[in-house]
Amino acid sequence: MDILVIGAGVGGLAAARGLLAAGHRVRLYDQAPARRTGGKALLVWSNGNAVLDDLGVSLEGVGARIDRIDALTSGGRLRTSMDIAHATDRYGFPTQAVPRRYLLERLAEGLPDDIVHYGLACRSVTQDGGRVTATFADGSTATGDVLVGADGHHSVVRRTLWGDGTVRPATFGTWQGLSPIDIDITDTTRHLMISGREGACGLMPAGKGLLQWWFDVRRSPGDPRPAAPLAELRRRFGHWASPVPEVLAAATEDDLEFFGHHWNQVRKVWGEGRITLVGDAAHTMPPTLGQGANQTLEDAWVLGRELAEDGDDPEVRLRAYEKARYPHISLVSRLAKRNPANWRVPPLIARLVPETYQTAMLARFSNRLTAAAG
Ligand SMILES: Cc1cc2nc3c(=O)[nH]c(=O)nc-3n(C[C@H](O)[C@H](O)[C@H](O)COP(=O)(O)OP(=O)(O)OC[C@H]3O[C@@H](n4cnc5c(N)ncnc54)[C@H](O)[C@@H]3O)c2cc1C
Repeated sequence: MDILVIGAGVGGLAAARGLLAAGHRVRLYDQAPARRTGGKALLVWSNGNAVLDDLGVSLEGVGARIDRIDALTSGGRLRTSMDIAHATDRYGFPTQAVPRRYLLERLAEGLPDDIVHYGLACRSVTQDGGRVTATFADGSTATGDVLVGADGHHSVVRRTLWGDGTVRPATFGTWQGLSPIDIDITDTTRHLMISGREGACGLMPAGKGLLQWWFDVRRSPGDPRPAAPLAELRRRFGHWASPVPEVLAAATEDDLEFFGHHWNQVRKVWGEGRITLVGDAAHTMPPTLGQGANQTLEDAWVLGRELAEDGDDPEVRLRAYEKARYPHISLVSRLAKRNPANWRVPPLIARLVPETYQTAMLARFSNRLTAAAG
C-alpha cells in the first residue's frame, strides 16, 4: 500500500521502519524544517528497546544504562528501591536514558534519504472511496491508501477525527534540564526519584557526563510563569537533602525548559476508516512513568505487524491494531495521570513493594514483551 505518515518524530520514524519492512511504500511529512536535534533525555525501557531491536535500531554507545531507581523522601530517606537490571535480565533488553536527538538519529538511520518531506505542515485530512488525502499549509496535497497521524500532542489528524478539546491540561508541569553536572550519580547506573510536599525531583544519568534533572511542580493552566524560574526552584527545593541543592547550584537559566502536563482519555477505537494515530496523537500523558516514547514505539511495532498481514481490508487491520494496543496503553495512561509528587508513601510501607515490581509492570505495559513471552 501507499502509506502517508504525518509527523516524523519518534512515532513517525518508527512506524515508517515497520511499514517499510512490511513491504509498503511510505512517505512522511513533518512541519519542522529538519530533524530535531534538541530535546532532553528520554528513558527507553526494556519494552522500548525490544521494539527498537525488532525495527533494526540499536542504542549501543549512546546514553546511560539504568539498573536501579531509588525513590527518596525530600529528607533523603530511602522509600523504595527498584531493581531495573532484573527486567534487563528477564527480557534481554536494558533500560537506557538517551538524549532525544540520538534516539531520532538512530531511528532515521538507513531510511531512504528522501522519505521525509520537511517543512510541510498538515492542515487537514480527508478520505473518500478508499483513498486518503492530506492537505498542507502551502496548499499542496498528498494522496495514499492509508494515513497515520504521528503528529504528536497537538495533532491535526486527531482533531480531524475527534474534534477539539479532547486533550486537557493536567495539574503538574515540569522544569527540566540536561547538563554536565558533576555529582556522584552522573557516572552511575542509578536514577533517583525524590518526592516531598513541594513537588518531585528526578535525577538520571544520560551518558558522557550529562545529567537529566527535572522538577515537577503543581500548576493550573492559567498560572503565569515565574520571571526567574531557577531562583523559584532554588527557593522551593533548595532545602531538600543532597544532591538536590548541588544540582540547583550547578544549573543555569539557559538549561531550563518548561512543559505543562496534558492528558487525554484513551479511546478504544481511535481511528476511522483508513486513518489511524500513533503516539502522543492518540495518547498524550504526563511523563510520570517515562513511557510516552516507549508506548509510541509499541504502537509502531503493532501497526507494522497488523499491516504486514495479507488479504484483509486495511480498515479491519487498523481497527485490530487499535484494539490490540488498548489494554496496555489505557493502563499506562491511567497510571501516568498520578504525578510522583503525590506518591509519598512512608518508607516503612513503601519498602513492602518488591524490588522487582517494575519487571512485572513492564509486561503489563507492553504488547511486545507479552508477545515474546507467549
Ligand atoms: C519533558 C518530557 C519528558 C519525557 N520523558 C519521557 C521519557 O523519559 N520516556 C518516554 O518514553 N517518553 C517521555 N516523554 C514522552 C515522549 O517525548 C513522547 O511520548 C514521544 O515523543 C511521542 O512521540 P510522537 O512521535 O507521538 O510525537 P513527537 O515526538 O512530538 O513528534 C511529532 C512530530 O510531528 C510533527 N508535527 C506536529 N504537527 C504537525 C503537522 N500539523 N504537520 C506535520 N508535522 C507535524 C512535529 O514536528 C514532530 O516532529 C517525555 C515527554 C516530555 C514532554
